[in-house]
Amino acid sequence: MADANFFKKQTPLYLVDGQVIKQGAEARVYRGKFLGRSVIIKERFPKLYRHPLLDEKLTRRRTAQEVRSILRCRRAGINAPVVYFVDHNTHCIFLEDIVHSVSVRDHIVSSQASGQDTEHLQTLADKIGQVLAQMHDEDVIHGDLTTSNMLLAGGAEQKNINLVLIDFGLSYISALPEDKGVDLYVLEKAFLSTHPNTETLFERLLKSYSASSKKAPAVMKKLDEVRLRGRKRSMIG
Ligand code: AMP
Repeated sequence: MADANFFKKQTPLYLVDGQVIKQGAEARVYRGKFLGRSVIIKERFPKLYRHPLLDEKLTRRRTAQEVRSILRCRRAGINAPVVYFVDHNTHCIFLEDIVHSVSVRDHIVSSQASGQDTEHLQTLADKIGQVLAQMHDEDVIHGDLTTSNMLLAGGAEQKNINLVLIDFGLSYISALPEDKGVDLYVLEKAFLSTHPNTETLFERLLKSYSASSKKAPAVMKKLDEVRLRGRKRSMIG
């Protein structure tokens, strides 16, 4: 039986100076400095209920998977933060801080609250559909698509929308239309519950997705199946 203390690690110095911006169930996110640059540090911490050896293995795999998905996106020209450094000893990923950004969530919320014309949100929906189709064409499944996990780099007032996808912590690689359909279903649920009365906007996003990917018909078919299953489940529950 392994001694649990053997796996205990000292808090790395770079985290001591960092400022916690999110505390999740799997990871803590910090804002800090690395080689003079502003960075986001994502630290996966040990799950004490798991056997230390198994925990170490799973955490290492998740960290590697997150980095792999980000790199795969970036190689295909999809905007995701630059990975500066990965510390596999402390399970920390150092990412480019997308400074002066606003989340798509905050942008939609404030646009709706302003009572002004929300026509520009349609262009944003087109862009999101395009980028997600491109990501799925690379067989990257994000796993946690929400409007909070999409940033508008340079702020919301930019003429050219610079959409950056973040938080690939639950991502994986799959070519299956079902996995892509579920990815879109997760977004649909999150989108419509976070932003009321946006059904038409979301339809526009899906239309743009369909126009951007040759593989879209199979994905849309699966999305419809998943929706149906969801509806049946909620009727039973
Ligand atoms: P995450 O757990 O990766 O979603 O990160 C939590 C929050 O930190 C996000 O909702 C963003 O507000 C912020 N964040 C994460 N990654 C970045 C990044 N690369 N640049 C700027 N802000 C980020």
